[in-house]
Amino acid sequence: MKPNETLWSSLLNEGHNGSNHPMNGFQGGGQDHQGKHGQADELGEAHVATSVDTPLRPDAFELDDDTKIELIEDRFKQIMEILGLDLSDDSLSGTPRRVAKMYVKEIFSGLDPKNKPAVRSFENSYGYDQMLVEKDITFYSQCEHHFVPIIGFAHVAYISSGRVVGLSKLNRIVQYYARRPQVQERMTRQIAEELKKSLNTEDVAVVMVADHLCVASRGIQDTNSKTITAAYNGKFLEEKTKTEFLKYLEL
Ligand SMILES: [Zn+2]
Repeated sequence: MKPNETLWSSLLNEGHNGSNHPMNGFQGGGQDHQGKHGQADELGEAHVATSVDTPLRPDAFELDDDTKIELIEDRFKQIMEILGLDLSDDSLSGTPRRVAKMYVKEIFSGLDPKNKPAVRSFENSYGYDQMLVEKDITFYSQCEHHFVPIIGFAHVAYISSGRVVGLSKLNRIVQYYARRPQVQERMTRQIAEELKKSLNTEDVAVVMVADHLCVASRGIQDTNSKTITAAYNGKFLEEKTKTEFLKYLEL
């Protein structure tokens, strides 16, 4: 038996047999240690990322998308019911399914490697050996601590090592890593690492400027602040190159 078979089968069975009471499946949730909970809360509020890789379960892609949508729909319905919403209302009845599809097919589709953009690099036949900057790439992500939007711009740059990629691929790489629960620091590094691989060069820079709705719409409720993160690599660590890049961002 695979290690996680039990979990998936319990997820799959729940709600299809047994009672349909909205609290079904939630009773066991209160057993976490107080201390562990407190620590996790603090980590979340401080917006700390623990690694450059998105923490994924080893069996993350054993379920197909349709099954995931079905399970999330069921869980989201429960959340809405627990909140006291009447799902027989026409306006609400389709929401659980809509949210489930949006999670799997849109805003969290970047979790699944099958959605990773295929980036083919070409020989730089025109001999362009200067910096290439693509700025103001709009992205929408979700804060992994609160599941509310992070909205912002990414600016990426590289100096060709002899290989180039189509410009839209730079956008697609940004979108892929944005479409998952994220912390901005990790997302910035993930995009930089992917660009380094795709372009076969260390000379890559990524700057991200974003509004975090978990900071704006709740908690500290600061609607004014921006979060800026950067990943400078290779020649971009040198002052001259970094300055040139930052000048282009002002244009
Ligand atoms: Zn947050």
